[in-house]
Amino acid sequence: MNQQRRDELDVAIIGAGFSGVGAAILLGRRGRENFRVFDKCGGVGGTWWVNRYPGCACDVPSHLYSFSFAPNPDWTRRFAPRVEIQAYLENLVRQHRLESRIELGTEIVRANWNEQERRWHLSDATGRVCRARILVPALGGLSRPHWPDIPGLGGFAGKVVHTQQWPEDLDLTHRRVAVIGTGASAVQLIPHVARQAKQLDIYQRTPNWIIPRPDRAIGPRRRALYRRLPWLQKLVRFGVWAISETRVPAFLWSNRLAAGHRLLADWHRRRQIDDPELARAMRPDYDIGCKRVLLASDFYPVLNQDHVELINRGISRIESDAIVDSDGRRRVIDALILATGFKATAPVPEGLIIGCNGQDLAADWQAGPEAYKGTTVSGFPNLFMLLGPNTALGHNSVIMMIESQLRYLGAALDEMDRHRSDRIEVKASAQAAWNAMLERRLAGSVWNAGGCSSWYLHPVTRRNATIWPGFTLGFRKRLARFDAEAYEQQGPL
Ligand code: NAP
Repeated sequence: MNQQRRDELDVAIIGAGFSGVGAAILLGRRGRENFRVFDKCGGVGGTWWVNRYPGCACDVPSHLYSFSFAPNPDWTRRFAPRVEIQAYLENLVRQHRLESRIELGTEIVRANWNEQERRWHLSDATGRVCRARILVPALGGLSRPHWPDIPGLGGFAGKVVHTQQWPEDLDLTHRRVAVIGTGASAVQLIPHVARQAKQLDIYQRTPNWIIPRPDRAIGPRRRALYRRLPWLQKLVRFGVWAISETRVPAFLWSNRLAAGHRLLADWHRRRQIDDPELARAMRPDYDIGCKRVLLASDFYPVLNQDHVELINRGISRIESDAIVDSDGRRRVIDALILATGFKATAPVPEGLIIGCNGQDLAADWQAGPEAYKGTTVSGFPNLFMLLGPNTALGHNSVIMMIESQLRYLGAALDEMDRHRSDRIEVKASAQAAWNAMLERRLAGSVWNAGGCSSWYLHPVTRRNATIWPGFTLGFRKRLARFDAEAYEQQGPL
């Protein structure tokens, strides 16, 4: 894959996850051959390559968690496991003959806009440099692990593992294990850890709303049916998408509309947790949807097991062989698992993307990321980011957002061709208006006003820089055509 390098690219894509692979397919289909995808990992898949903790699977039904132009009749479960999703992306790369255009094991450490040349200069970790007219950061919003700032963490003598950096050979059999966090990663992981560990301490800072996960196997007959009748799978996909869209009003306008989900979560918790006091302690005190609603049918039953303890209070410090909770109780452990999530409001590392006048995108985004339509950023010409600020969803499949952005990217490139421009930059006024609109819509939403803290909000400014406050269809409509009036174009030099 790494042979036949060219240093002069039309489009450079950073990241070979869903959005990077999607961008590569789009460009290939549009006859744009001079592009390259760079990824620091040894395989394609992005988050689905990196996250290898046991139990990792999608929490959006797979018929919807796939590209609309590439349905997969072979999903074996309603919620596909990580391995299948990664294989799906690998198959797409093969089908679209993209292997030679993806440079794996290549970490881009700096992308620098050169105003004189109107080109992006990309340097990889080995010092090799290439130039590109267009830069497409497809970094993913949840790719930088969040290590908690707990006193003593660095001094723990046993194994410390973040869910995103799971060593494949990690054996927890007969060990005393602590898991910090009870979010989406934790509830998938914990049932597996409970089966191995001799003692499992779960440190929960805030309970989550959890509803049953309606997962089931998709048998060979059903799969054959989807292969023979593709429209049937499309119909199922449409149904899942439409039902998911109906959740928007409850999240955006009135949480009272989520009463059904709340009742379901309450019933699920009481039914699955034996100890009524624990069941009560596990009830969140904020609106449903404020944090991501979790789907889990095998998490609560773990809490009934004798070797498992839920510690529903803070951590005061970590010692070389133990965790001390805020009540001063010390629990000895051999291994520590951090299911503490990601730096969602700081998705771009410092020094990675440098725009006009040496502006560092990460520094510009210190108070929270901000873009136009989640895709373009003033001060960063010829840059089209995928899954940028305010494109995450709490109610539907993010693949819908990626596809809207891909269409927008395609239209933008056509527009540049038509105008023979080699520099395009979103106007600061358009970006400001877009963000004012987002802020207005988010103000009363469950994500901002639901009474919780979450990765959706910047930890200091509390600005919501992650969520798209609306229907996926609304986003799609807003990106359906390339709105050249929001941009300044120049060129050729
Ligand atoms: P998360 O939802 O941010 O959960 C992190 C957990 O760690 C929370 O329980 C948090 O408590 C706790 N925590 C963080 N810092 C802590 C500290 N200093 N002390 C004690 N506890 C601390 O992260 P995640 O579970 O990795 O999930 C993040 C997102 O990734 C999800 O919302 C979802 O969008 C995505 N995801 C998807 C899937 C899937 O199935 N497709 C699977 C995993 C993740 P607080 O709640 O109190 O902050």
